[in-house]
Amino acid sequence: MPITVYNTLTRKLESFRPMVDGEVRMYTCGPTVYDYFHIGNARTFVMSDVIRRYLQYRGYHVTYVMNITDIDDRIIARSIERSVAASQVSDEYAAAFLEDCAAIGIRPADVHPRATDNVGAIITHIQSLIDTGSAYECEGDVYFRVSAFPGYGKLSGKKLEDLIAGARVEADTRKENPADFALWKTAKPGEPWWDSPWGKGRPGWHIECSVMSMQHLGPSFDIHAGGNDLIFPHHENEIAQSEALTHVPLAHTWIHFGFLNIDNEKMSKSLGNFFTTREILQKYPATTVRFFYLQTQYRSPLNFTQEGLDAARTGLARLHTLYAALRNAPDGSGECAIGPYEERFIEAVDNDFNTPAGLAVIFDFAREANAVLHDAEGMSREAQQACSDFLTRTAGDVFGILPSDDVTADGSGDVHGLMELILGIRAKVRAEKQWALADYIRDGLKELGIVVEDGKGGSTWKKETP
Ligand code: AMP
Ligand code: ZN
Repeated sequence: MPITVYNTLTRKLESFRPMVDGEVRMYTCGPTVYDYFHIGNARTFVMSDVIRRYLQYRGYHVTYVMNITDIDDRIIARSIERSVAASQVSDEYAAAFLEDCAAIGIRPADVHPRATDNVGAIITHIQSLIDTGSAYECEGDVYFRVSAFPGYGKLSGKKLEDLIAGARVEADTRKENPADFALWKTAKPGEPWWDSPWGKGRPGWHIECSVMSMQHLGPSFDIHAGGNDLIFPHHENEIAQSEALTHVPLAHTWIHFGFLNIDNEKMSKSLGNFFTTREILQKYPATTVRFFYLQTQYRSPLNFTQEGLDAARTGLARLHTLYAALRNAPDGSGECAIGPYEERFIEAVDNDFNTPAGLAVIFDFAREANAVLHDAEGMSREAQQACSDFLTRTAGDVFGILPSDDVTADGSGDVHGLMELILGIRAKVRAEKQWALADYIRDGLKELGIVVEDGKGGSTWKKETP
């Protein structure tokens, strides 16, 4: 059975069949680097990372591209505020983006192309659009002529007449049609610029994704993804600019991620309910934040709360405890069959990347594995290995939520992995009834401000609140 996926373009759940057997080419719109990315952006980036990892788990060779928008009004505004070059702002935050991605367990894309490295190719594309009648120049700006592309509106379902009526309010009289959009913007005094056939200027935002995706993935590829807010105008415009020249579908499957709200309100700086990924990762391990995201299917909106994160931490600790115990329990005779769980996991996640259903299977498995481990017979060494490998493949490689997936922003690893190891050693010590040594470890940890609690399903730990 193939994977099914909801395609925004057709508004249907479809069987996913890549253009080339066994290979998936995927593009996700990346960040505009004028600030640290927030936990809303992080949801989009993490879920996209999980889709890529899942496709790899299902045997596809995935080529994954995510751009970095490093020239934009917001970057220029920030550079003026700070009296530094726009490139300094974008370099700083592009580096921070990659650091924060690593810290939250997002694997780097195969390519992270940057807009400013591709201005030549962007100019060439715009010139071809002009030459073929799909774009026109106007006082140093270049606009896409939406009336020249009959498919305009097919992704968002918007009608050109409505768009024209809506756009009239802020009509730029220099445009032929109020719905036309900029491909090239003439440079205002003090702004960064590149030479072009239309004078000094810079590319518009939409055109960079068209050019960079086609450059790395070809004129037609399998998956194009991004947050819900990008359906219109960004992705609609990408389709128009690309397909007007190539006459083939830019992407076959369009995937859009639901938005993240905070305490049921839209996240915004002015409301003060705004968190960067950096801030959250100082308080919670990456695996907790990822687990929190994964508990909701990628298309649904997600409400971010402190309680939700705390509950995620507690829930995930059960899995971490099992994972540690599986590597440290004494040899026994009990078995635990992985096959049915793996089949159920695949069936669940094949259904439009339903990560909550996938997690439910992992937790059902954990319940059985725990029962066998803590039974008087214990679990055989081979079964322990098979269970541990199953978790590594699913919870680890696909979801990135095992202790080994936690790294700090500086990449030095973090206390969570170590704690799981210590608790694993202590579980072994307890299984061998070495109570004095088990107490010694617990008391020693307490002195370091770490409280260990022994429960039925194993031990958990938390930092003592001061
Ligand atoms: P930006 O840096 O604003 O271009 O956004 C980068 C990516 O994050 C885009 O795919 C956006 O659609 C996505 N995004 C922005 N805000 C949110 C949010 N609150 N929830 C989920 N995704 C978001
Ligand atoms: Zn884009």
